[in-house]
Amino acid sequence: MKLSRLIRLLAALCILTITVGGCMWLAHARANHGSSSKLQVVASFYPMAEFARQIGGNNIQVTQLVKPGTEPHDYDPSPQDIAAVYKANVLVYNGAGLERWADKIQSEVRSRHIVAVRASDGIQLKTADPSDIDNQSPTDPHVWMDPMLAIKEVSAIKNGLIAADPTHQATYTVNAERYTKQLQILDADFHSGLTTCQSHNIVTSHQAFGYLAAEYGLQATGIAGLSPDSEPSPEKLAQITDFVTQHHVGYIFFETLVSPKLAQTIARETQAQTIAFNPLEGLTDDEIAQGKNYISVQKDNLRALRTALHCT
Ligand SMILES: [Zn+2]
Repeated sequence: MKLSRLIRLLAALCILTITVGGCMWLAHARANHGSSSKLQVVASFYPMAEFARQIGGNNIQVTQLVKPGTEPHDYDPSPQDIAAVYKANVLVYNGAGLERWADKIQSEVRSRHIVAVRASDGIQLKTADPSDIDNQSPTDPHVWMDPMLAIKEVSAIKNGLIAADPTHQATYTVNAERYTKQLQILDADFHSGLTTCQSHNIVTSHQAFGYLAAEYGLQATGIAGLSPDSEPSPEKLAQITDFVTQHHVGYIFFETLVSPKLAQTIARETQAQTIAFNPLEGLTDDEIAQGKNYISVQKDNLRALRTALHCT
């Protein structure tokens, strides 16, 4: 039974019987989980929050921990953020090495009967390049970038919402099916849009496109490693510059949430141009104001790829 229903039931019981113990429990439950009747969901960063909102609709209230305009790799939760997690009914995070803080609080989360969804569970993860010294995870976390893997994450989140709130199972199932269809169309657009291209080499700000590249037959090279704040060595920069020149890479991709300086430097040295490519680790306030979302940004990404790879 969803906790809010249980609380309403107990409230009725309190009025009927004035059971002091039950009323005290009720006060505690409301203090713990808020008085809203909506299922309280805390999501770590943008794609997790967006997928949860698409599935949960009006039945859930989503709190996103990593705020707009910031990227999640170097995010550390504040004590208030952890308190928000402990007040929630459901915690949604990507896993695969991205939110190590969430793995660390699992026993506490379990003891508070919070449903934890690690959305990448069950997905075959890519191992990190051992030379990527600043990356602290053995796996590449960027699974959400591949629409087909995003579908798997949507399914995991749907199952978590149903486990916490089985009364709305039908709604969560229908919403997840509808969103999955949109992701399948997006996948088909990527396949057809990238069929006839002159090149398949992309050079990006950080190595966020491994899963997307594998799905659509591209070769992705990150200037930085799996984390955008990992500084490439002068040797690595020289290698990338040589690669760009040898393979006539015409465009270097930069990101909105990461300084474009390295991308610009390589572009300048190789007479390439720069073009935006969004790893969807967070939207900016401007992007949110423009109504952008996971699907629309991925369509922008596909347009950028088609320009950069000279697709017809
Ligand atoms: Zn990343």
